[in-house]
Amino acid sequence: MSFKAVVERIRKDVEAYQSETRSPIYLALNENPYPFPEELIRQCFESIDPSKVNLYVDSPSKEFLKELVDYLSTDSWRAREEQISVGNGADEIIYVLLLMFKDLSIYVFPPTYSCYEIFANALGVKVNKVPLRGERIDTKTLKGLLNEDCVVFLPNPNNPTGHLFEEEEIFWLLKTKALLILDEAYFEFSGKTFAPLIEQFQNLAILRTFSKAFSLASQRIGYIVANPSLIDAYNRVRLPYNVSYLGQTFATIALRNKRIFQERVRKIIEERERLKNALRSMGLKVNDSKANFVFVYLERERTERVYRALLKRGITVRKTEFGLRMAVGQPKQNDLLIETLEGSL
Ligand code: PMP
Repeated sequence: MSFKAVVERIRKDVEAYQSETRSPIYLALNENPYPFPEELIRQCFESIDPSKVNLYVDSPSKEFLKELVDYLSTDSWRAREEQISVGNGADEIIYVLLLMFKDLSIYVFPPTYSCYEIFANALGVKVNKVPLRGERIDTKTLKGLLNEDCVVFLPNPNNPTGHLFEEEEIFWLLKTKALLILDEAYFEFSGKTFAPLIEQFQNLAILRTFSKAFSLASQRIGYIVANPSLIDAYNRVRLPYNVSYLGQTFATIALRNKRIFQERVRKIIEERERLKNALRSMGLKVNDSKANFVFVYLERERTERVYRALLKRGITVRKTEFGLRMAVGQPKQNDLLIETLEGSL
């Protein structure tokens, strides 16, 4: 096969990643509505060591790894450095994991994070889809299908719906022996993590990101927590020096000042609840999101109509085949969102 044929096959078969055009109120990518604090940006630049900029800096650096260990550890569990690695956003980690396990059976449970399938498609990896039943994992269909030759990608809280899976559903998956990639990108907004369980389950890996709670989407910093042998394999497959010195400095300083971000998370949660209640009082079907976005179940025709009405007011949300996903914005942005929704129903 010629290289031209490969290029043509990719053009035909691989969906290009696309996001909506930026608008004044952009709620389509679940970003943090609050900018990274200027004072901390100053600290970041002041702490950059000029004699390091021309060098390849370890990924993760010692300082960053130390902060991550402290951040992950709980009263009853101390994380270890060899259980952690980093990626250029959680997305890169997903990409690398798909590459590592391309010969196994990959499972996703739609509606789910769209990039699992987009990246698999780019890599020519087949994905098995077992839709959720409502908001529950379809254990009836999966029974007998999952075993240690399988890898499951599952966001918790789920994206796009924002709901948390039940603890018993997660344990059910772990007991199948399949490798469970539990994507906790929105952990800080739910407060629920399964990270300490990596001690007990060799088949569990946790993904996290600095893009959401820490207002650092531009810096592309994600991390993975799992048993040391999986982390070692991941480190052999990922690109060396995959995370920049500047990005790691931002993330390290964010962790050293985590109270600022925790306070903002609290505000976002408050707004999320206000948004949910307002939407429910309009008679809309809104689930119990535990992330930094809300999801409204709508039929296709109504989804389109409401989406357009919002766009007219400069508000961009994410359109899916099940309804609309809207990131929680700053209070005034949420006011306008609520007002526009009211007028468009
Ligand atoms: N996982 C989920 C469930 C997400 O929603 C996102 C971001 N949209 C990511 C991973 C990727 O995050 P990052 O910015 O760290 O690549």
